[in-house]
Amino acid sequence: MTQSVILTSVFREEVLAMAAYKVADAQGLIKLDAMENPYNWPEDIKKDWLETLKDCQLNRYPDADARQLTQTIRRLNQLSGQFDVLLGNGSDEIIQLLLMALPATASVLAPAPGFVMYKQLSDCLGLNYLGIPLLAGTFDLDLPAMLAAIERHQPSVIFLAYPNNPTGNLFSEASIQDIIKTAKGLVVIDEAYAPFAGASFINFLAQYDNLLVMRTVSKLGLAGLRLGYIIGNPAIIEQLNKIRLPYNINSLTQISADFAFSNKTLFDQQTQKICADRATVFQQLNELEGITAYPSAANFILFRTPENKATGIFLSIKKQGVLIKNLSGQGGLLSDCLRVTIGKPEENQAFLTALRTSLAQLNSMQ
Ligand SMILES: *Cc1c(COP(=O)(O)O)cnc(C)c1O
Repeated sequence: MTQSVILTSVFREEVLAMAAYKVADAQGLIKLDAMENPYNWPEDIKKDWLETLKDCQLNRYPDADARQLTQTIRRLNQLSGQFDVLLGNGSDEIIQLLLMALPATASVLAPAPGFVMYKQLSDCLGLNYLGIPLLAGTFDLDLPAMLAAIERHQPSVIFLAYPNNPTGNLFSEASIQDIIKTAKGLVVIDEAYAPFAGASFINFLAQYDNLLVMRTVSKLGLAGLRLGYIIGNPAIIEQLNKIRLPYNINSLTQISADFAFSNKTLFDQQTQKICADRATVFQQLNELEGITAYPSAANFILFRTPENKATGIFLSIKKQGVLIKNLSGQGGLLSDCLRVTIGKPEENQAFLTALRTSLAQLNSMQ
């Protein structure tokens, strides 16, 4: 048998049609592409952390229910006993296990542009993925279009990132509530960037049975740990828990995350610093001729470049040693758009300098 016959006889059509999610190689570059927190821990905190790891029993399986960490997460979010929490190996894993639980013919709905994994994982599972365009200009929800699509397709799950990635804005709270009320399926509010936004739907959980709130520690400053969680109605969490692999949160992550949460003030300070620097970068971007930066409630900024120049500018910035994210290839509302993560002040300045140089080059070529 030839290789291609083997592939087509073994793998699902959806899988054969997909491309793997590509992570850019950032070696030797200032990394402003992936919404990571740029700050490491002070030495004394690192020492305390290593101390907590010393007694970790790597010969044993992790606590399958991550009881201590779950308790900490409950306490931090002031969750009442009426809700349950499920932990995932990153919130990506939670999205995956939620979608794995759906019927093969189910529809999944999210605004477009949105977080790519919603579509990637839906496509992989052969689900009917619907991306409903956001309003041009504000990137807010097109409420009539969303409600019409919900009525028509009755999606099993709706994902709303709050703030949204890659646009950075918070959708209108009233629109989200209308969507939750109209939907007969689940509505997942993905709060990956909540620490930078100071806004959350956790307080709405008691009002809506079909509402779930998902969070991650990745953008907060612990991307290397791979830890996300979802909060909601126990009957729904119970179903998801059946699909979860028993030891999905490894021992080192359980201990390290619990330790990190005990140093919450450190993360709060870093978050405040990042938000202050976001305001500086936003202002400096908008002072550049030909650049439109969009207001952001997250730790990144989406900005529009002159027509058909985004990829050239992206490559020029990379050549100057700074890696950001090129979104222009996704087309639609993201045509000509690039996204930069807020880093340390000197990294942000290196990015702005590189962008200025590349814009000057563009102008001199005209
Ligand atoms: C980054 C991101 C995630 C993924 O987070 P992990 O916990 O690292 O898997 C989920 N949702 C949105 C909107 C994101 O931007």
